Amino acid sequence: MSLGYLERGYLEKEELPPFPSEERLKKKTVAYIECPQPIPCSPCFESCPANAIEMKNINDPPKVDYEKCTGCMKCIRVCPGLAIFMLRLRDDGMGEVTLQYEFLPWLKKGDRVKLYNRKGEEVGEGVVNWVLPPERNDNTSLVRVEVPAELIFEVRAVRPVG
Ligand code: SF4
Ligand code: SF4
Repeated sequence: MSLGYLERGYLEKEELPPFPSEERLKKKTVAYIECPQPIPCSPCFESCPANAIEMKNINDPPKVDYEKCTGCMKCIRVCPGLAIFMLRLRDDGMGEVTLQYEFLPWLKKGDRVKLYNRKGEEVGEGVVNWVLPPERNDNTSLVRVEVPAELIFEVRAVRPVG
């Protein structure tokens, strides 16, 4: 696989793993992993209680079996590369993206945020509807953001409005 993303600093669409089907995304939140580089890293694989993450060896980029994923979020809590996103499509035309967030001040439920794509371009605004604060000795919180449905495939970072 081309490693052009290393120079570019972001993944192009054709470098992404296949997305879960719309039907699967509507059923329950599901892990989506954007980690193509062959590096010796496996906390996601080791943490998954459902054996939903496939890695043939420790350098193998992880692949999620979307049918096995239960949405437990254990993998996203331990990923050191900020490479895992939890995605969901709701019946009301909105979607949800859960991502790791490492900036102060910590975001809280109800905060309005600007939404950014993989290139760092602003693509809209969303609302935080759930937060898991960092644990002791940890600098990572989890933030779930409500966004227009089509943006769950694009939004990969947020920052507070204002
Ligand atoms: S969300 Fe849970 S079940 Fe799904 S891939 Fe991550 S650890 Fe496995
Ligand atoms: S824990 Fe994160 S960085 Fe490490 S292999 Fe898994 S997805 Fe990639």
